[in-house]
Amino acid sequence: MNCPHCKYNNSKNYLQYCEKCGKILPINTSNYFDIFAIAESFEVDLPGLEKRLYALQALNHPDKFIQASIKEKDISTHNSSIINQGYKVLKNVHRRAEYMLKLNEIDISHNTPSVQMLEEAMEWREKLGNLKNESEIKDLLEEITKLELQKLNLIREKFAKKLYTEAQEVYININFINRFKQEIEKQLNSSQSSLDIQ
Ligand SMILES: [Zn+2]
Repeated sequence: MNCPHCKYNNSKNYLQYCEKCGKILPINTSNYFDIFAIAESFEVDLPGLEKRLYALQALNHPDKFIQASIKEKDISTHNSSIINQGYKVLKNVHRRAEYMLKLNEIDISHNTPSVQMLEEAMEWREKLGNLKNESEIKDLLEEITKLELQKLNLIREKFAKKLYTEAQEVYININFINRFKQEIEKQLNSSQSSLDIQ
């Protein structure tokens, strides 16, 4: 890429600093996997990702640019914000799945769960309405959490095989399950706080 400071045409694309003038270069890719220098995969080594985050943050830290030009300051701010955003997306399984689908040009605006999923959800809803006490809510929560884990394993397989359309179907179901899980958690919290009052 061309250095915005000295115009030198750097041979490599993902450099942090210009090979000629040594000044900071803007991140010129929107691919978070490239930014973190890891292979595009649903399997992310989280401690490794975190290490990489600290290294990238250190390179771009505003403190390093106190004496620098406005241009360099702007680049470090721009880079820092992309790095932080990328980290948030890659570390979270749901956001990572969504991001990988987008990267592979899968339309994620379509979000109707499968018929089977909707039928299952009707059963959960009925169950949730009839639950008498906290331990029953906890049991249902456990059941849903197990199901979510199963689906996460499934989407892992789909991504590994690069079956993105199938991964999208699983993704929709995972989101659906996750929303339901949040509802149960809410109910659990409110049942716990009503116990606190008594
Ligand atoms: Zn330069």
